[in-house]
Amino acid sequence: MSRYTDRHGATHTLPDAEADAQVRADDRAHVFHSWSAQALIDPVPVAAGAGSTFWDYAGTGYLDFGSQLVNLNLGHQHPDLVAAIQQQAGRLATIQPSIANDVRGELARLIADVAPDGLEKVFFTNGGAEANEYAVRLARQSTGRRKVLSMYRSYHGSTSTAISLTGDPRRWANDVSDTGAVRFFGPYLYRSPFHASTLQEESQRALEHLEQTILLEGPATIAAIIIESVVGTNGVLVPPPGYLQGVRELCDRHGIVYIADEVMVGFGRMGEWFAFQAYGGQPDLITFAKGVNSGYVPLGGVVISDRIAAHFDTTPFAGGLTYSGHPLACAAGVATFEVFARDGILERVRDLGERVVEPTLRSWASRHPSVGEVRGRGLFWAVELVRDRETREPLVPFNASGSDAAPMGAFAAAAKKAGVWPFVHFNRTHIAPPLVITEDELVRGLSAIDEALTVAD
Ligand code: PLP
Repeated sequence: MSRYTDRHGATHTLPDAEADAQVRADDRAHVFHSWSAQALIDPVPVAAGAGSTFWDYAGTGYLDFGSQLVNLNLGHQHPDLVAAIQQQAGRLATIQPSIANDVRGELARLIADVAPDGLEKVFFTNGGAEANEYAVRLARQSTGRRKVLSMYRSYHGSTSTAISLTGDPRRWANDVSDTGAVRFFGPYLYRSPFHASTLQEESQRALEHLEQTILLEGPATIAAIIIESVVGTNGVLVPPPGYLQGVRELCDRHGIVYIADEVMVGFGRMGEWFAFQAYGGQPDLITFAKGVNSGYVPLGGVVISDRIAAHFDTTPFAGGLTYSGHPLACAAGVATFEVFARDGILERVRDLGERVVEPTLRSWASRHPSVGEVRGRGLFWAVELVRDRETREPLVPFNASGSDAAPMGAFAAAAKKAGVWPFVHFNRTHIAPPLVITEDELVRGLSAIDEALTVAD
């Protein structure tokens, strides 16, 4: 039997090695995993989690620096969320979407209250990809147009339309079945597609490129532009000044719906309810998932502008999901709002980001030859690793796998050995711990990553 002590000082007993072997055997024999060559993976069985830490069956604890795909904003086993789900399960476990329900309505109101004025309605889905599917459907049905523009460096999910809109290599092996998908380059000064040398230049040239794309595609054929307010898995690409406002203006000029994909960065990750609130440019549709209830029960959705919602006042919206606004998921969402307000989550994210994370990462950029650039805000940062700072050659090639990815594998192994579970994607490690991480844990985790970076230098 293994034991671990959680951050509140309580001791727990973990199942033994026999259980570990059983979990591994069942997983290997019967679980078909996402995005993987099945025979080449060996997932670690996790026995328990609390706050910012999870434990394997041997009792080894890891600080969770990726928040389970940047999802677990309130950490593992948050008592308020667990209690809210238990209470709701005891009262009304499920109800179809066409019947009004208290927690569904309350959560929709809470979300509308933190969204900008003029976005009052919420359509609930079961996750982020579906949220984007439905945002596109709302845009297409309300405009009568078909094309949707998205960035090359983007991920919007893995359902049919969402993967078609995704720009990164995850779409390559999939049939891009949505023929209305058109891609463009977004701003990324460190590897500028526009040969810009300042943020202002990057912003302006990216907007000119987007406008050219719109004009050449035919503005009257374009239903929507979908943009991650801060690009997530493709590198924590923070929009340069004026970019999102410029997108808003282009959309206004051409009657295009602006969809902000806030699935990864919404609900406090960057110290705001929605990340665009830090950078400007009000969208017509906001998609969310993950942080809305830390994924305790699958939930996502679309916040809808009054103008688009009004289109469906007398024209029926063609779409729906059996589990839309599931009471267990919504109860966890309502509890999330209570915790955010009571514990000042947004304020602590901003504080920890500015006071602890940013200065530490900037010091890495000056000390580690492998660190090319650090960027981010709040508790969401990317550390981009390079072979050569002058040429900016990435530490591993774009879309590297197998032995090509070995240097990042060595970094990840070193971080795990030091007690941190890192988020690694291509040549970057992202810093994305739960928003409830204590300052001590954060400092400890950052110094473990600092140490692990020496294997990449
Ligand atoms: N949009 C963004 C920006 C994401 O990061 C993700 C998932 O990581 C998705 C959409 C898809 O969300 P889901 O996996 O819940 O379908």
